[in-house]
Amino acid sequence: MENPVPSLRSYLTNRLLTSLYLLWLISTVVGYFATINYANQPYDMVLLQRAQAVAEQLKLGTGHERLEYVPELPDGSDPVMPDRLVYTVSDSEGRKLAGTASLSTPLSYRRSKTGAVFSNGERGGEKTRTVSLVYPDPASKRVLQLHVSETTHQRQALIRGILANIVIPQLLLILLAVAAVWYGLKKGLLPLERLRNDVATRARGDLDRLDEARAPAEVRPLLDAVNDLLERLKQVMSSQQRFVADAAHQLRTPLAGLKTQVELALREDDPVRKQRILEYVLTSAKRSSHLINQLLMLARNEPGGQGVETFLPLDLDQAARDCTLHWVPFALEKNIDLGFEEAGRPAPILGDADSLGEMLGNLIDNAIRYTPRGGVVTVSVRNEGHQAVLQVLDNGPGIPPEHRPLVFDRFYRVLGSGQSGSGLGLAIVAEVAKRHDAELLLESGNEGKGSRFEVRFPLSSLRP
Ligand code: ADP
Repeated sequence: MENPVPSLRSYLTNRLLTSLYLLWLISTVVGYFATINYANQPYDMVLLQRAQAVAEQLKLGTGHERLEYVPELPDGSDPVMPDRLVYTVSDSEGRKLAGTASLSTPLSYRRSKTGAVFSNGERGGEKTRTVSLVYPDPASKRVLQLHVSETTHQRQALIRGILANIVIPQLLLILLAVAAVWYGLKKGLLPLERLRNDVATRARGDLDRLDEARAPAEVRPLLDAVNDLLERLKQVMSSQQRFVADAAHQLRTPLAGLKTQVELALREDDPVRKQRILEYVLTSAKRSSHLINQLLMLARNEPGGQGVETFLPLDLDQAARDCTLHWVPFALEKNIDLGFEEAGRPAPILGDADSLGEMLGNLIDNAIRYTPRGGVVTVSVRNEGHQAVLQVLDNGPGIPPEHRPLVFDRFYRVLGSGQSGSGLGLAIVAEVAKRHDAELLLESGNEGKGSRFEVRFPLSSLRP
């Protein structure tokens, strides 16, 4: 499969090398034309002086021209002066009047400040540079043109020399830059390599944070995200381990009890006693199943369990009313007056209906169980500022202040409260509250009697 994202090193190397290559190309081209321009200037000046000397010798523009005279010009045989010069004198129509060659008016040319016209051309397979001058003759009223042309061996040699002096050092500089880039990348990517080794050589199950201090600033946000993930993973793992340990610990005793009772029942011949033992087995099995449900509910709501993905907009007032109704038969059984106080308006919150039902169920169940017969339990929901406040109030024995901070811990039970239980009910309440970002308060009930549990949820703007 094709790798959609190239390696950082090859991407950076390619990008930088391409840019450096383009830069080198541009500077060479610019350098080439600048060199030609600067190399031409002194040679053009000499060529012009030579042409003026020829004009002087031929007395052009004086009215006494000596067109038959042939001035002496370099013929390229001298190694010090390898360029050959030729000239032509023509009239204004371009007809040749004298000279050592037939040079016509240039097509592309550059006029110098002196009025001379310089042009490039080719003669006999050789590149040439020509200067053209115009001499009006006041006496005969005719105009004479003088063209002097030279081969460009010296100019080419100078251009080659200058270019070699520009291009070779530039090439060396580019090579140096490439080496610097390669080395810089190697050094710059070293922390990432170290990080990879750190992760690769970690012991199994090591979920400690990655060291951000050793990472480059650009990579730190990524490390933060990875560390966050590790932290959450750690919580999930530790909550799973805790769940397994709690479940094993809590289930061992009732299961051992069940086993003993079933053995007893098998050995019992008296049908009445057998029946009683089996009823006891049924109660124990129900209690164990309740315990398992509670453990699962706890695991679901603690950090590392389900997140807020399952949250939906719901009306806390409606949910509390439904749940209270469900508990009425149990309250009646114990002659407890279980009531729901109408708020008269919806209390919209975002939440997980199952978890909230379990939370409220635990609070009402506790209130019914711990309040003596004939007691009163009241559930209510009210909106206060930006909070929806769920309250479960009873007029039972209450929880002594020294136990209040502890009753929300797992398996914590107040000794002598006289009821069987697992000590998980309020721990579940606390975890559900935490997961819903709600505040949980416990204080004495009305006139210092009984208990008042309050769970304050943030109100939501989303309607159910
Ligand atoms: P459990 O009820 O299974 O023992 P909980 O976590 O629900 O476990 O409660 C922890 C302790 O808090 C209970 O043992 C009980 O002593 C005390 N408690 C909880 N609710 C009430 C209440 N409404 N009135 C008095 N005591 C309570």
